[in-house]
Amino acid sequence: MKTRLLQHIQGLSDDQLPAYVYDLAALRSHTRTIRSALPDRVELFYAAKANSDPRLLRTLGEHVDGFEVASAGELRHVRRLFPTSRIAFGGPGKTARELSHALEAGVERVHVESQHELRVLTTLVGERTVDVLLRVNPPLPLGRLPLVMGGRPSPFGMDPAQLDACLRILAAHPRIRLRGVHAHLASGLDAPAQLALVERVVGWAAHWTRAHGLPLDEVNVGGGMGVDYEEPERVFDWSAFGTGLRRLLADHPGLTVRIEPGRSIGAYCGWYVTRVLDVKRSHGEAFAVVGGGTHHLRTPATRGHDQPFEIIPSDTWAWPWPRSAVRLEPVTLVGQLCTPKDVLASRVPVVRLRNGDRVAFAMAGAYAWNISHHDFLMHPEPGFHYLDDERLPTPAATTADCQWSVQGTGERLVRHGD
Ligand SMILES: *Cc1c(COP(=O)(O)O)cnc(C)c1O
Repeated sequence: MKTRLLQHIQGLSDDQLPAYVYDLAALRSHTRTIRSALPDRVELFYAAKANSDPRLLRTLGEHVDGFEVASAGELRHVRRLFPTSRIAFGGPGKTARELSHALEAGVERVHVESQHELRVLTTLVGERTVDVLLRVNPPLPLGRLPLVMGGRPSPFGMDPAQLDACLRILAAHPRIRLRGVHAHLASGLDAPAQLALVERVVGWAAHWTRAHGLPLDEVNVGGGMGVDYEEPERVFDWSAFGTGLRRLLADHPGLTVRIEPGRSIGAYCGWYVTRVLDVKRSHGEAFAVVGGGTHHLRTPATRGHDQPFEIIPSDTWAWPWPRSAVRLEPVTLVGQLCTPKDVLASRVPVVRLRNGDRVAFAMAGAYAWNISHHDFLMHPEPGFHYLDDERLPTPAATTADCQWSVQGTGERLVRHGD
């Protein structure tokens, strides 16, 4: 953990925990690294569903080419923050209402999930024009991958024959302009595997467009770039991915490839910080109960991993009896929920963990707070803190309820909701 971040965490009072701390400077530099590894003809969109926190989005806004949204709610949210940004609207089950909202909001692309959805769009487009990608689930066997959305029966996208049927609908509706195809097939791949998948998707798209006498203009290959919760330092190799894409694009002049990652952009910048409330033994095993739990950070429970963490020793101990502690043995970190599923990390060996110490769970910047079941058991919500060392733009009206404070030298800690 960076010293700056550690100091900020140590500066929080016990009453301010649990808390999410977002390192916006780290997010900015990570996103810059990603962008600079990618060739010009690769557009980087951020999948807002990974984390739609307004300050994260603002930080990303300067470094991505646009945003992918998957509901009218996300669309409104992103539009409010970025009145002119490029927005792609994807996701299954778009309602007519959502689609007409998308047309009014001027989305740059609609990712069509089915023939029905395309037909609904034909009734709404009116005198406007709208640019679409057809989302395909191509017949590409993918094998065993962490989260597979395609290459086998799936609710996402269309079989190639349905894509052909869409072409017939499009032929009768010139105001709906086909720009290319979309495929988001898997998640959790490392760079060589992701590149191999992109090559197969682009190969399939080239074949399909050629068969129909269409140009190969645009292929959106989705997100899913891997994040390794077991070995956090094994970051997706953006440089190798960029090099491979450059090679691929050389074979396809005129093609723009778009990617729309979420997790691999945001995961690393978020920390969920809490405090040990109790250390106990049960049938010979050590447990540490921390403030909060999986209702704030559901990721380890849904993915079945141990959330990586760092222990921040705290010497504050207000009680007249000795502190309970575990030393040089495995400990299971659980939250405050009355369910055996409230496990953040299981049987992880520690050098020392004491009642009252702080624990900072890493990689909590994506699919963390926003996918958690906040109201279960009605514990208080965590605080939110934003660490930055570059001046942020003036907060918009949507964030006017925030209290800003400056700590340290030129660093900024923004706090809200307390
Ligand atoms: C969820 C999703 C993404 C982002 O996936 P990550 O694993 O967060 O990179 C991108 N595109 C689509 C269509 C998605 O459903």
